[in-house]
Amino acid sequence: MSFVIISQLAPAFFLGLFWNRGTSKGAILGIIAGFSVTFYTLILPFIIESFTGSRAFIEHGLFDIALLKPYALLGIDFLNPPIHAFFWSLSVNTFVYMVFSLVFVSDYRERNYAEMIVDNSNFLGMEEHAFVWKGEAYVADIVNVLTKFLGEENAQAELQSFFKKHKLPQNTLLADARLINFSEKLLSGSIGGASAKILIASVVKEERISLIEVLKILEESKETIARNKSLRDKSSELIHLSKKLKEANNELILQDKQKNEFLDTVAHELKTPVTGIRAAAELLIDESDEMPAEVRDKFLNVILQDSERLSRLINNILDFEKLSSGRQHLIFEPNDLKLTLEKVLGSIKQIAYTKKIKIIRKQFGNLVFQYDEDRIIQVLTNLLSNAIKFCDPTAGVIVIDYKQKAQFVEMMIENNGQRIANEDFKYIFDKFYQSASQNTRKPLGSGLGLAISKQIIENHKGKLWAEEGMENGARFFFQIPINQSENELYD
Ligand code: ADP
Repeated sequence: MSFVIISQLAPAFFLGLFWNRGTSKGAILGIIAGFSVTFYTLILPFIIESFTGSRAFIEHGLFDIALLKPYALLGIDFLNPPIHAFFWSLSVNTFVYMVFSLVFVSDYRERNYAEMIVDNSNFLGMEEHAFVWKGEAYVADIVNVLTKFLGEENAQAELQSFFKKHKLPQNTLLADARLINFSEKLLSGSIGGASAKILIASVVKEERISLIEVLKILEESKETIARNKSLRDKSSELIHLSKKLKEANNELILQDKQKNEFLDTVAHELKTPVTGIRAAAELLIDESDEMPAEVRDKFLNVILQDSERLSRLINNILDFEKLSSGRQHLIFEPNDLKLTLEKVLGSIKQIAYTKKIKIIRKQFGNLVFQYDEDRIIQVLTNLLSNAIKFCDPTAGVIVIDYKQKAQFVEMMIENNGQRIANEDFKYIFDKFYQSASQNTRKPLGSGLGLAISKQIIENHKGKLWAEEGMENGARFFFQIPINQSENELYD
């Protein structure tokens, strides 16, 4: 019984010596299969009989199937039990070993080993420290190859020391195994072992390149491929980064351009009143003697008005700049929107009254929440003076309403009169934008009012907008969140 069990190692062992396609998987499966057969045909019936005394299993087979009788598998009943088991187990073992070895293709490393063992005469010559003699080569050829890869100086220096070490004459013509081996090692340092081997082989009249060498070359190029892949990854990362850099650069250029445009517009806007002031002042200096008093007053008035306009513009520009660059820090404090609105109405009531504009307030309730009061006064003043400015000239009505919604307060300011033209709608919140269809161009204002208001509301984390598609008049809304979070308070 023990012989039959031990003999399961035989197929893999003996076949493996001569057959280089044998694989470890095949061997293991073969042994398992062979052992299973041994167990069924020899061990199991023995155990059953000795423990139960019954020979039913032996005489009738598993499940009473005659073909499965353990001592007469598939009807082979002319062998005694150990030989019968030996025959079946070894046949199955060998069959499984060979089939699985052929079916599962082994990896190159395994084939490499197989090759080393099966074809060992070839392999011995490739042992690390063994001298290899693969044919003949001229020293000059080898020197050539070395010079190409190491440089003239290095190659010469290395060879000199080699010759000295091995006590060889400097004018040796034919390279011996040691020199070839040495050159391969030298080259390996700079171009990799397999490639070095190929190069040296190209100047040596070699017998042939063995499978193992090919495998090694493949292994090496696999490493190269992996290295290449990581290089490729790195370079695509670089491409990605440089794309980002380009984008950032474009963004900067755009910002620069916008800044330039802004400065151009500012300069232009400032020039108009300055020119007016200058012209009036020059006229006054040159001709004040002959000038009638009322004409002089007119010029003085122009100077005064343009100066006011100038300082308003400058203030607005500074304001806008500060707000949009984030240098303007808001002061959030609990305030009552009702009181804030009353302050604004107090200062514009007079103008509305003289223009016979009716102001309707829909809401008189208190609404306390965190906001920067001075800034919201600025927004309300802007919106209300726009409403007055663009109101129906004969029967002007302005409606003001505010209410608290879920998380924010919403304010509405509405006026009748001309509607905002479709082509203007997109731009009214832009800096310096004033509608071309405005009948009174630059009545009072700079085109910065809405831009500044929008900045203020956005700095409150809210939004400001105008209702689209109105039949006549204009309706502006803004929303401010009630809870300005902690860090925004210190923003
Ligand atoms: P301005 O200083 O000219 O008022 P704004 O930024 O306040 O500048 O407004 C920009 C433009 O938006 C105005 O020139 C006008 O064309 C339009 N606009 C603003 N408010 C109203 C309104 N209530 N009705 C009609 N048009 C308006």
